[in-house]
Amino acid sequence: MKKNSVTRRQFLTTASAGAIAAVASKALPAYANANKKAGKLAILGGHPVRTKSFPGWPIWDKNHDEEAVLSVLRSGIWSRNKVVSEFEKKYAELMGAKRCLATTNGTNALLTSLHVLGVGIGDEVLVPPYTFIATIDVIFLSGALPIMVDTDPETFQINPDKIEDKINGNTKAILPVHILGLPANMDRINAIAKKHNLLVVEDACQAWLAEWRGKKCGTLGDLGCFSFQNSKNLPCGEGGAILGDDDEIMDKCYSYHNFGRPYGETMLTLSGYVRLGTKCRMAEYQAAILLAQMKRLQEQTQTRTENANYLTSRIKDIPGIIPHRLYEGATRAAYHLYPFRYKKEDFDGLSRGRFIAALKAEGIACSGGYNPINKDPFFERTLRSRNFRKMYSKQRLDNCREQNHCPDNDRLCKEAVWFFHSLLLGTKRDMDDIADAILKIYENRGKLV
Ligand SMILES: *Cc1c(COP(=O)(O)O)cnc(C)c1O
Repeated sequence: MKKNSVTRRQFLTTASAGAIAAVASKALPAYANANKKAGKLAILGGHPVRTKSFPGWPIWDKNHDEEAVLSVLRSGIWSRNKVVSEFEKKYAELMGAKRCLATTNGTNALLTSLHVLGVGIGDEVLVPPYTFIATIDVIFLSGALPIMVDTDPETFQINPDKIEDKINGNTKAILPVHILGLPANMDRINAIAKKHNLLVVEDACQAWLAEWRGKKCGTLGDLGCFSFQNSKNLPCGEGGAILGDDDEIMDKCYSYHNFGRPYGETMLTLSGYVRLGTKCRMAEYQAAILLAQMKRLQEQTQTRTENANYLTSRIKDIPGIIPHRLYEGATRAAYHLYPFRYKKEDFDGLSRGRFIAALKAEGIACSGGYNPINKDPFFERTLRSRNFRKMYSKQRLDNCREQNHCPDNDRLCKEAVWFFHSLLLGTKRDMDDIADAILKIYENRGKLV
């Protein structure tokens, strides 16, 4: 920090008066690496700020992780057994939950949770549109209607001020998503849920170890769901989990995920089937990889947090770059993605697409993130499907359509820029390269528009 402010002062004393005047009220931050400042933009044929690659993903330990998988292979016990149970115990401990149920993936963790809590035909579930498709799919697949609550563009999360407007007699649950690994405002969400007697199922599929007032995301509602898909911060290829504190509900989740057999049974027995069930058990291989990955999770999360904070400090004064804000109750973020908003007005109208292309050319991988999924064709097609027309009156379906306007989210989807979490696993120097590349584009913006 100190070093940076010295550099900045040096920069300001040597920079031309014209350059300073150009940014008027805001002093432009300095380059961390002065020799990267000079020169043509890479997208116009110049040298990129960065040629070295960023840390890749996933990461595994050649000896330990590989041995863990091989030992499952050699045991011949590949279906759910002791390794999965051990993972469940350790994950529950790590997260501060009473119980954990491992599943095949995050989508099935969510489906199981909604089913067991009794969300189904006739119900409405309040959900943010700024999320991965699976969050919306599971509501429809449960036979319920997803009712969109607009996004808070500063935090990228469900806007708590807009939840109560959407509640009616059919509302059954709120499905907040700690999207990008940043905590949603759980004080407000839980208070609203309590007031209106609604269930809360947390989609924590991007929020391993994220915290709200010192408690882990995914342990703050009735049930919390996680994903361990390949790209996620705790990966095993495909995997998921449900966390909960209520034994009866967790026993039901287990039963439902195992053909409706009574809790605890894995093999066919004479005790029969106590309820309708599905089958989404985690395999032993998946759990073996997760146990190995979990050893690194705390340290990696710490590194991501430090780098994210440092990156924010480096880019926050660049005009047109608005870093995400965390709610005051968010005591830790998981940073599955690092987001900021890009305001093209401050870049002389340079489009976000062109900005992203220029940043990529400078050697910084990035993306524009989610499109408004509430406007995707699947949404209207599902409402028009035979099943939904049988389950709901025209009036109910029309109401779902009418609620589906989220102007803040539409705008956010046009302004967001994301960095993938593995970029945050390197050094401060890496963050300097990201900031320098953005600064270089800012200073040369006139040559791109
Ligand atoms: C990844 C993800 C899911 C789905 O998890 P899978 O393991 O891919 O089924 C659900 N919600 C969010 C927010 C996710 O990021």
